[in-house]
Amino acid sequence: MFDNEEIGIPCPECGHETSKPVAWVKANDELPCRRCGTAIVLENEKHLLTIEQVAQNMTKLRRSLAKFHRNARGTRWHP
Ligand SMILES: [Zn+2]
Repeated sequence: MFDNEEIGIPCPECGHETSKPVAWVKANDELPCRRCGTAIVLENEKHLLTIEQVAQNMTKLRRSLAKFHRNARGTRWHP
């Protein structure tokens, strides 16, 4: 799902954006720019991916907490 999504990685030298699947970015450290040949270091992108995944997990957690609160409230109102 998330691993198959493509992200655009802009070249710091010429600005040319290369699209790669998330799984590819995770598995590689450098991406050679197709236009100018600069090796784009993927460390920053990996950092962003981690943040994005944490955010996704937080959303899931918030959702299950909301469900829990609803259930708890329901129990209190209708014992
Ligand atoms: Zn480039």
